[in-house]
Amino acid sequence: MDCIFCKIIEGSIPSKKVFENDRILAFHDIQPAAPVHILIIPKKHIPTMNDVSDEDAPLIAELFAVARQIANEQGISEAGYRLVNNVNKDGGQVVYHLHIHLLGGTKLSPLLS
Ligand code: 5GP
Repeated sequence: MDCIFCKIIEGSIPSKKVFENDRILAFHDIQPAAPVHILIIPKKHIPTMNDVSDEDAPLIAELFAVARQIANEQGISEAGYRLVNNVNKDGGQVVYHLHIHLLGGTKLSPLLS
């Protein structure tokens, strides 16, 4: 499958991992947009949030639980952070394997102003 994140999961593309279990992988973004910029992805290849099914609900909940855990480990929970999921071209999605961006370590500019 021609998916960068599937290749990161299988190990043929290297990554700086911060978390892994049977269902989820998290690693540092290669082009960080903030001092902390970590991607949290399911190992199951789901292209976009539009492709999430009802049976994926526990997996999506676990993605957010992992994000919360990593934010705590990175020491940014109290100061705050942002979780982002881009969907399709108008949302700015570039990699078509579901992922949550965990951004923090600085005061992020408002999304809407
Ligand atoms: P999107 O725009 O699809 O929401 O975000 C994709 C993210 O994946 C971008 O922030 C980009 O920097 C990151 N990315 C793309 N290719 C790689 C890669 O090979 N390794 C890592 N660690 N991050 C990548």
